[in-house]
Amino acid sequence: IYKQMEEMATTDGLTGLINHRTFQSRFDEMLRRATRIKQPVSIILTDIDHFKSVNDTYGHPVGDEVLRRVSAVIGQEIREIDVAARYGGEEFAVVLEGTDRDGAMLLSERIRKNVSAQIMNGGSAEKAFRVTLSLGVAAFPADGTRKEKLIEYADNALYTAKRSGRNKSVAYSEDLAINA
Ligand code: GH3
Ligand code: MG
Ligand code: MG
Repeated sequence: IYKQMEEMATTDGLTGLINHRTFQSRFDEMLRRATRIKQPVSIILTDIDHFKSVNDTYGHPVGDEVLRRVSAVIGQEIREIDVAARYGGEEFAVVLEGTDRDGAMLLSERIRKNVSAQIMNGGSAEKAFRVTLSLGVAAFPADGTRKEKLIEYADNALYTAKRSGRNKSVAYSEDLAINA
């Protein structure tokens, strides 16, 4: 019973990924370790494009299934040591241990392409559809050293990906911050 309660408190019931709160403490932990052993850590924040229209067109249960499929793709692409979380409604966060910005961008693009190749079941054969992701990347220590800043920077990059047409990965840079 204790194990079940702990699982309910730390994971998201729909996707099985860790929840926002657990993500925050795991990210803290990873940054402490990275500082100690002097290695990079990267964060990817991602948000499904036009997800509201998926719910509006196919219904909420189909939207839920899309969230599970996207979570499964993220889970397939990352390594055992990485951490993936349901960050919010249709937003996910991934923290990559020992991975710099370039490595994170490669993984981000792999996730993006894999998700865009999935055929979603909208209820019947004629209603098959696809979804895309926008993703933002920030890296420790190149972009910053504080967790809050790294999250803000990844969010900044994600926002830039959205604004510049969606279905893409953008890495944080200081120019982005100025334009945002
Ligand atoms: P954008 O490309 O700018 O991200 O557009 P969007 O439509 O994805 O963004 P918006 O924030 O307007 O919509 C997010 C939607 O996600 C609205 C909300 O109903 C839906 N959502 C959040 N959590 C869940 C969930 O658990 N299940 C389902 N089916 N929908 C969810
Ligand atoms: Mg959103
Ligand atoms: Mg969205």
